[in-house]
Amino acid sequence: MAKHPVPKYRKSKSKSSIRHSVWENNLANYWINKIKLAICPDCGGKTLSHNVCQKCGKYRGKQMIDMNKGDEKIKVVKA
Ligand SMILES: [Zn+2]
Repeated sequence: MAKHPVPKYRKSKSKSSIRHSVWENNLANYWINKIKLAICPDCGGKTLSHNVCQKCGKYRGKQMIDMNKGDEKIKVVKA
């Protein structure tokens, strides 16, 4: 015999799904609050702090990535 309290009946599907949805929602909110987005001073877009802006390619006023170059598609592959 078990010496600790044991549930008499199994939980229904809906009760389990309600519990899981609350857990899932809390996890989503955790990540939303965890990731802080900084505003790029050059273009005003949202970027990850301490990272190069993906829209304008600048970091602390310096051009790190040439954004015009990235648009050109590679047509000939040199093997
Ligand atoms: Zn930017």
